[in-house]
Amino acid sequence: MMKSLSPFEMRQLVKPKFPLVMLFYLLGVVRSQVSPGVCRYPLGMSGGQIQDEDISASSQWSESTAARYGRLDFEEGDGAWCPEITVEPDSLKEFLQIDLRSLHFITLVGTQGRHAGGIGNEFAQMYKIKYSRDGSRWISWRNRQGRQVIEGNRNAYDIVLKDLEPPIIARFVRFMPMTDHSMNVCMRVELYGCEWLDGLVSYNAPVGQHMIFQGLHVYLNDSVYDGAVGYSMTEGLGQLTDGMSGLDDFTLSHVYSVWPGYDYVGWNNESFPEGQVEITFEFDRIRNFTTMKVHCNNMFPRNVKMFKQVVCYFRSETDWENPPIAFSPVMDNVDPSARFVTVPLHNHMANAIKCQYYFADTWMMFSEITFQSDTAMYNTTLAPPNTDPPTSTQPGDDPTHKVDDSNTRILIGCLVAIIFILVAIIVIILWRQVWQKMLEKSETFPYNSNSTRSSSSSEQESNSTYERIFPLGPDYQEPSRLIRKLPEFSQVMEEAAGTNSAPKSPQASAQEGVPHYAEADIVNLQGVTGSNTYAVPAVTMDLLSGKDVAVEEFPRKLLTFKEKLGEGQFGEVHLCEVEGMQDFMNEDFSFDTNPNMPVLVAVKMLRADANKNARNDFLKEIKIMSRLKDPNIVHLLGVCVCSDPLCMITEYMENGDLNQFLSRHEPEGLSALLSTTPTVRYSNLHDMATQIASGMKYLSSLNFVHRDLATRNCLVGKNYTIKIADFGMSRNLYSGDYYRIQGRAVLPIRWMSWESILLGKFTTASDVWAFGVTLWETLMLCKEQPYSQLSDEQVIENTGEFFRDQKRQSYLPQPAICPDPIYKLMLSCWRRNAKERPSFQNIYNTLLECQV
Ligand code: AMP
Repeated sequence: MMKSLSPFEMRQLVKPKFPLVMLFYLLGVVRSQVSPGVCRYPLGMSGGQIQDEDISASSQWSESTAARYGRLDFEEGDGAWCPEITVEPDSLKEFLQIDLRSLHFITLVGTQGRHAGGIGNEFAQMYKIKYSRDGSRWISWRNRQGRQVIEGNRNAYDIVLKDLEPPIIARFVRFMPMTDHSMNVCMRVELYGCEWLDGLVSYNAPVGQHMIFQGLHVYLNDSVYDGAVGYSMTEGLGQLTDGMSGLDDFTLSHVYSVWPGYDYVGWNNESFPEGQVEITFEFDRIRNFTTMKVHCNNMFPRNVKMFKQVVCYFRSETDWENPPIAFSPVMDNVDPSARFVTVPLHNHMANAIKCQYYFADTWMMFSEITFQSDTAMYNTTLAPPNTDPPTSTQPGDDPTHKVDDSNTRILIGCLVAIIFILVAIIVIILWRQVWQKMLEKSETFPYNSNSTRSSSSSEQESNSTYERIFPLGPDYQEPSRLIRKLPEFSQVMEEAAGTNSAPKSPQASAQEGVPHYAEADIVNLQGVTGSNTYAVPAVTMDLLSGKDVAVEEFPRKLLTFKEKLGEGQFGEVHLCEVEGMQDFMNEDFSFDTNPNMPVLVAVKMLRADANKNARNDFLKEIKIMSRLKDPNIVHLLGVCVCSDPLCMITEYMENGDLNQFLSRHEPEGLSALLSTTPTVRYSNLHDMATQIASGMKYLSSLNFVHRDLATRNCLVGKNYTIKIADFGMSRNLYSGDYYRIQGRAVLPIRWMSWESILLGKFTTASDVWAFGVTLWETLMLCKEQPYSQLSDEQVIENTGEFFRDQKRQSYLPQPAICPDPIYKLMLSCWRRNAKERPSFQNIYNTLLECQV
């Protein structure tokens, strides 16, 4: 089944499904050594564990779209791997290849296109997968119905996960993009699974046979065998290693809509004159084998029984060793259920094992064969433990009562009970979490609402293999999943409220040195003078080299201090007079004063003893501001960064910040006539809002996200001129279209969209949300804080209501002087679906149209 997911949700979904899955397996529905339900770990494309040199491709469009940029959920380079040429229908020339360095059991793949903060729109509609265990023999993956083509992405940003049914055992994997028409394609990918500790590289066996049982055709072939199939099967792996054990009744299958006998590979005694079936197993290296587990059908009323004896030979060099070991399991003529039979291998060292399984009845059917060796330890609870000590016998010995897997049922029952108790405890703990209620009531998980819709609709519409083959699939939307996400939510919320110090994510540590804010440490840092808190990447900016900054070092001595404009934890803003500033500036900026007169500038200064994070942040703000040139963005005139204290010199806005400015004013009207307070007309307020929209339009056109738009961060000059300031929190979308909040941060929650608070996702659309709040503040003349009647905790609770979208969320009320169309505009900025919010261009146009 296809799922379109946000990166945040995707990380959750691929987590192993424990403990429910464990329960599922313990209850005997499926038991095997490696379980597709548990083995779903990201293998390191997004986490960085897969090295760049292990990612290669058939070709690349440019250095910045090389194979190494094909990592899911990464925005480095130009945002994805893109092949050199347009992909044509039916052409399978291009591929992105991953070398996992060792054999892995791969259960799931994730793909994404190139979004690059909105400038990219390339993705693979479809793709095929090829894999190899040795790097030379490549096998095309096909699903259980034989189809090779996998449905890919529908847009450039959503992650689409696909279960591989059957799973792959491989070291090398190739993604081969396909399209139905000639198109540019880019891909980012991830593989999910776990290491294949069996070390089994192939098995050779006689082909499975065809049984007719009471007129029913039962096909006992190995339908997913990936080696050569002639009279016998050679050099491949298949159903015996796919992690799916057969049901008791071999005519049924876990996989609905497949033929009877699907789960099993089976043979008829009459076709084997020696009364045995020989299977050879080849391994990646010499191993010390302890046991082999064979999942056998035992439907004796239908002439199917587990093997009565097995004789195994070992080979570590060229010849098979003698004597072999032999083992005879307990024959069970009472219980017809399928079971794992555990065969002791007595610590034999070998890289190949040849076993002859002797018929006990007309038919013998296996669905899984697993090996336990020195390193091969999976979750042993997935296969029922063998309580009887295994012993070996020589060939020809009579079967004796030595091993009986059914004896383990009591133990399994105990384990199930323990797991139930554990589950109950976990549920109770979760129940007590503050946000449990909120999430429990929710029916969907808050990834972008587009994806929510697409995934749920695809669930309704499709009878996809995912749902049929893999019964855990629909869990993706179950409330229990939401409960499992609860701790993460509360963590994010606590961070938002600044109460929790969360550990750095493993991803963050995997990407040391990568200036990606999503994974960066965040420190609680006061704005130089304001109360803002900035998120600071733990990277040292190489700003002083000057190569990144389009602004020059200004001679500090030419600045003459006049007065202090503001003050904060890490510095001050001074009003300074400066001579010769005009000569220093490029022609594209002019002061509206006499060229020979000194000009007034604002100097934002970082205290010399500010910590490294504060310095980095200050330098980052300079870097961002130096690139912005717009009439509604405060202009950076120069910097003093060659010595301490670091300074940025900006144009002076004589009326200070918009919040203070409006707080000092009353709306023009009758009541104002009676007071001495200065007044402001609605038209001026409207004009100021339009200027903010214009500045934001410019910012969003450069893919910059401000992240802290509010009246306190807008400056007012002469004649109600507005310029947006305070870029301490802003980031360029090119470095990632969303940012995850890790660590401690105090954030302006009353201005933040629900997805910024709950998911740590900051985009232009979340800036639009903040604009709506800023517009509200403006029309309220900053007489009230947004949601002033709500505590911080209630604001977060209200955010939950926005996410639930059950019409219980509270919106900021319509300000008294706000015309209906403008309030409608405000409300549109707070739409739950970020994609339905207007762009800044739309907002600007609407404001122009509504101008009075
Ligand atoms: P900040 O630390 O950037 O938030 O600045 C603190 C305060 O200093 C602002 O709220 C303004 O009142 C004032 N301020 C900052 N920059 C300027 C400027 N360029 N012109 C006038 N006042 C400023």
